[in-house]
Amino acid sequence: MKILLTLPKNVDQIKSGGIVRSKRKYPPIEFLYLGTILSENHTVKVIDGNAENIKLDKIKKNIERYGPEWVVISSEAWDFWGCPFPYGGQLSWEIGAFAKENNAKTIFIGPYASLTPQDYLHKFDFIVQNDPEIAVQKIIEGKTKERIVRFPVDLNMLPIPDFDLLPLKAYKQNEYPGLSLNNFFVLSGSRGCPFPCIFCLNPILQGKKYRLRDPSKVIEEIEILMEKGIRSFFFQDSIFTLNKKWAQTICSEIINKGLEINWGIQTRTDFTRKDLIKSMAKAGCKFYSLGVEHIDPSIQRVIKKIQPIGQVLKTIKMVLNEGIGCGVNLMMNFPGETLRTLMKNAKFRAWCDKFGIGGGIKPVIPFPGTELHKMQKFPNSIDAVTIEAGRYNKRPFYLFYNMYKRYFDMMSALHLKDSYEIVFDHRSNLSTPKSL
Ligand code: SF4
Repeated sequence: MKILLTLPKNVDQIKSGGIVRSKRKYPPIEFLYLGTILSENHTVKVIDGNAENIKLDKIKKNIERYGPEWVVISSEAWDFWGCPFPYGGQLSWEIGAFAKENNAKTIFIGPYASLTPQDYLHKFDFIVQNDPEIAVQKIIEGKTKERIVRFPVDLNMLPIPDFDLLPLKAYKQNEYPGLSLNNFFVLSGSRGCPFPCIFCLNPILQGKKYRLRDPSKVIEEIEILMEKGIRSFFFQDSIFTLNKKWAQTICSEIINKGLEINWGIQTRTDFTRKDLIKSMAKAGCKFYSLGVEHIDPSIQRVIKKIQPIGQVLKTIKMVLNEGIGCGVNLMMNFPGETLRTLMKNAKFRAWCDKFGIGGGIKPVIPFPGTELHKMQKFPNSIDAVTIEAGRYNKRPFYLFYNMYKRYFDMMSALHLKDSYEIVFDHRSNLSTPKSL
């Protein structure tokens, strides 16, 4: 059978954290394993509308010309496991409708499909929640009668992908200092997260069970990509350092094999150990993204992500001391947020600026399926939530943060940046460590 795997170009002019994120051209790694598995018995073509700047009309023309019997559409061009991009689903729906008009069967995958599958049953023939690889294969080969299909995979059963399915030269990043902008690729060595953070989609999209891919397979993928000229990698794993032994093995293999690459990861502060960071630095890790979210203890308790400020500062210090660049992800507008808690987070953000630590403070969006969504009584459709959250996030907190940020920017412009010092409240009993 002829199968087309495709995703649309992201919408332009959306800014977040100061980056025009629509320029992000990440490889759709969901298509890699899936395409490789399907290629065993079928003819597979991938059209990455985002990386190759292919407009919707051209994707439609490709469907007419190629005449696939099946079209698999992913809604997410940034991160298959990430938050659904506001309005991002709409272009996918258009592709789906066109494919149906051209007599193809359609399958919808990605975060939209995973979170509210019932909303898209009238737009697509089948909806796949979470891992796409085996679920899509079962649908195409007629091994399931369900229209909403979920089939978790064992990561070690996934093949070494055929990277030539994707336009490798098209992938770039502009977010991680220390990593090359071009010759860039995304890796994923694990899926799942066992933590209960009330705002996070990861345990919903990937499951609560933490699954690992054998380090030897991850290294083999890196080596194949290096042969194709790729030198820069970002591990999309939510908590790269959660299993220390696994992360250490990846580092040791990179060091022992002398693989000259630069790479970045994301993780929590409580799974960061000094000896592992040393190995990561030696293995070429150049960027360490920390999901801190909020530094106020009362908000941390509400969101069920407790990382004491002392631990956050210690981790940042360890990372910077090893010469690894650091980014800190912060969020705001959680239940219980006040000007006091917001200011605390904003002061912390300003303190990060002093040490060249990147990242921003993003307003939280209570996506369906999260505990936060239930607490806030938001609508059930993703687009309705993003519209509603847009209004919700224009509350005084957000305006205040922007005002606050302008104040620090102004001080910075006047070279007065060092004249302020972050002072945490008495309960945390910590101030800025001088050694930083
Ligand atoms: S925020 Fe991080 S630790 Fe918490 S559930 Fe999400 S991925 Fe897991």
